[in-house]
Amino acid sequence: SIPLSFFAGIGGASNAGVLVKGSNYLETLSETKYVVFDKTGTMTQGVFEVSGVHHNEKNADEILEYAALAESYSTHPISKSLQKAYGKPIDKTRVSDVEEISGNGVIAKVDGVTVAVGNTKLMDHLNVDYMDCHSVGTVVHMAIDGVYAGHILISDLMKPHAKEAVEALKRAGIKKTVMLTGDRKQVAEQVAAELGIDEVYSELLPADKVVKVEELLGKKKEKEKLAFVGDGINDAPVLSRADIGIAMGALGSDAAIEAADIVLMDDDPLKISKAIRISRKCLRIVY
Ligand code: ADP
Ligand code: MG
Repeated sequence: SIPLSFFAGIGGASNAGVLVKGSNYLETLSETKYVVFDKTGTMTQGVFEVSGVHHNEKNADEILEYAALAESYSTHPISKSLQKAYGKPIDKTRVSDVEEISGNGVIAKVDGVTVAVGNTKLMDHLNVDYMDCHSVGTVVHMAIDGVYAGHILISDLMKPHAKEAVEALKRAGIKKTVMLTGDRKQVAEQVAAELGIDEVYSELLPADKVVKVEELLGKKKEKEKLAFVGDGINDAPVLSRADIGIAMGALGSDAAIEAADIVLMDDDPLKISKAIRISRKCLRIVY
């Protein structure tokens, strides 16, 4: 039978905005020694702001319009920022043949031309020569009918408690923090350094994240548990694979919330260490 205090633990956690899906997860959480994060939406707000548009043939307004239209069916944070910067209602009858390639971008027909919006991987895949861009931030490249059209520079903001969250995990005895992201190396390393995260792996596809977590799981001791924290549709497989999966609840995708064992209701990364502390306290009461 399950001790009553387990339920008290779950209740106490939910009061703190931490939803635990079952009492067994409290025990696993209490033994967590490795915390692996996704970047976008987990440590950063995932609410990007367009900070620049660099164009070739078309003008800046046209670039933004094509990007917003091509991305109009996407729920990715990048799409949301493009819609916001465009600022006008989207006539979806202008958009067809939409294909979203996870970790790469979107290809769609807009007004009859083929618009590709995404990272350098997408441009490489389409054999489009792009302009290299060394600015800090996420670079969204665009090609129209296979011809490079320009790029949009967008920047993400760190979550207010992101740095504190990593420090609090260290104080709670977490051995290692790791960040996995689909974003560029330059951006990933800058964020990890700023937050004091021990290890960082960038330019990963969703399947690569699972492989990385499996590598980490293979290296650690049996009794030491690994938690993964993420928010996106892409994170569902890795949330299930970790010893404990923690999802951001407010902005997180349904798939991530479904796959997780624990949900942080307010998306605050500081709640990760709080949840660990609650679980340990609860376990001490039990044994
Ligand atoms: P993260 O792992 O940081 O949460 P994702 O796996 O969601 O990031 O995306 C990785 C990269 O793929 C993004 O940084 C971006 O370059 C590109 N990308 C993914 N989806 C889109 C999209 N809808 N539009 C443009 N670029 C995209
Ligand atoms: Mg994400």
